[in-house]
Amino acid sequence: MKITKSEFISSYADVHKCPAPDKPEFAFIGRSNVGKSSLINMLTQTKDLAKTSSTPGKTQTINHFLINETWYLVDLPGYGYASVSKTIREGFGQMIEDYVQKRENLSCIFVLVDSRLEPQKSDLSFINWAGSKGVPLAIVFTKVDKLKLNELQRNVQQFKKAVLADWEELPPMIITSSEKKTGRDELLDFIDDALKV
Ligand code: GDP
Repeated sequence: MKITKSEFISSYADVHKCPAPDKPEFAFIGRSNVGKSSLINMLTQTKDLAKTSSTPGKTQTINHFLINETWYLVDLPGYGYASVSKTIREGFGQMIEDYVQKRENLSCIFVLVDSRLEPQKSDLSFINWAGSKGVPLAIVFTKVDKLKLNELQRNVQQFKKAVLADWEELPPMIITSSEKKTGRDELLDFIDDALKV
């Protein structure tokens, strides 16, 4: 897929205020600092469509972008903050939970995972929870340029093993680097295929 147009629509604090669900939607989620904004900017070939976590005053909202006037790309708030209250940390936040369960045009959630780290509890717990709700998801490994090939293979293998502890089948997995534009074609082809269904 070629991205010819990317427009920021708006930010929403509530799933019920999101745009009418009249177009397929692909959402991106992950722990803060996983490289989500960088990936969205890499995909859309923009410098600052998605604001990076270093942006002062970045709020926790659901952010909609309209791509090629045909589908929504959604930047979801990060999960796994150390500073949030106990009740919030045990879930993923009301906004995220409502969005995942109620957004009827949601085609796929891309769960971003930092390829440098061993399997993280918050990532696995989100995957297990969203998977149990029957939401289609795919895993996107980020920052692979920071690893040697054998380190990457080891970490991906470990992650697969951790996912298979709870699931019989592995979700699709895509290897990416925003720095090197690795995985861009694969991710966009994945979305293209999902749009054709
Ligand atoms: P977000 O909080 O998930 O939106 O993460 P950001 O996109 O703001 O990225 C967090 C940090 O990781 C920034 O310093 C980025 O420059 C860096 N980063 C993101 N993606 C990559 C990547 O593919 N390769 C490398 N080497 N660094 C990256």
